[in-house]
Amino acid sequence: MNFNIAVLPGDGIGPSVTLEAQRVLEAVGKRFGHRFDFTSGFIGGISIDKFGQALTQETLKLCRKSDAILLGAVGGPKWDNPSAPVRPEDGLLAIRKELKLFANLRPVKMYPALENSTTLKPEIVRNVNLMVIRELTGGLYFGKPKKRWATSRGRRSVDTMLYTEKEIVRILKVGFELAMTRRKKLTSVDKANVLESSRLWRQIATEIAREYPQVAMDNMLVDTCAMKLIQNPSYFDVIVTENTFGDILTDEASMLAGSMGMLPSASLAEMPGPGKHAFGLYEPIHGSAPDIVGKDIANPIASILSASMMLTYSFDLPREAKAIEMAVISILENGYRTSDIMTPGMKKVGTIEMGKLIASQIG
Ligand code: NAD
Repeated sequence: MNFNIAVLPGDGIGPSVTLEAQRVLEAVGKRFGHRFDFTSGFIGGISIDKFGQALTQETLKLCRKSDAILLGAVGGPKWDNPSAPVRPEDGLLAIRKELKLFANLRPVKMYPALENSTTLKPEIVRNVNLMVIRELTGGLYFGKPKKRWATSRGRRSVDTMLYTEKEIVRILKVGFELAMTRRKKLTSVDKANVLESSRLWRQIATEIAREYPQVAMDNMLVDTCAMKLIQNPSYFDVIVTENTFGDILTDEASMLAGSMGMLPSASLAEMPGPGKHAFGLYEPIHGSAPDIVGKDIANPIASILSASMMLTYSFDLPREAKAIEMAVISILENGYRTSDIMTPGMKKVGTIEMGKLIASQIG
């Protein structure tokens, strides 16, 4: 089969990890007889430098005519001025909104070979296999008013956490449908003791749970969830939460898998079903990591596993997706590590070497 993939490497370590994901996809193509055609575009800081905008119509056009998007990361100190009229992250928010990518799936898996690479005790992280579903096009990141202004009593700012019933229902349904294919356990995370938007969220979650009697659902406050992710992460199967909470909780959860460099994500406009492929954007959850850029030490596995999610959700190629995951597991079990997951006695490799090892494992 032939697939057109838009590649938006972005800034910092984005281009180098994305290149390794492409290398691995090429290997999958060769082994399984598919053709992946990659077309590159600009997003984030590099797009601001070239065109004065974090996301251009040109890039959007490229994405719309592609079967899926592979994205690196955006941002960096060069564009960090808080008074700048445009920021790299504007490109990310815009692409999510424009392409209606409301469901962000972030699997958190502890691979046994990395049990000793985390800062937590092995017995805590052992068997962690959870999925965080983050609402991606609503909440604080998009709600209006959103502004800063000066008053005679000092500067002020406001962000707005707005959620409509429709937005809450559709993300929770993604969660319940996914829970049905897993351990049938769903935790809806909110801050209902303080926030009105969370009280609506909780009410709707409780209503929808009645449509899925096979799924054990609980509501949990986000602060409790943050604590429980570290105390007893195996408690969780599927977590569904709003945009900001999901952003923060998944950075925390990445530590259960050993590193930010291990966590992939899929952002979907709809859920795939039998015979239905979902258009999606695939990217590691990490940022542009300016502190390690240009050193060939970034871990490309998050990007490579994002490519694996692309094969699952957008191309309906589960066997090929599994081949990538198995290659990652095998390379880790053979003791290869990038510096973020390095432990004594293991073999330290760089970004490119890690990509080549995983690609060669595929065949
Ligand atoms: P970050 O995720 O870039 O980095 C956090 C820490 O994790 C750093 O120490 C970094 O070296 C490390 N790290 C991240 N990815 C790694 C990898 N693949 N391998 C090894 N180590 C890795 O977050 P930050 O430093 O807070 O932000 C840097 C820039 O990235 C900022 O401009 C921020 O806005 C942006 N950002 C972008 C995205 C995105 O593009 N989706 C997400 C988060 C942050």
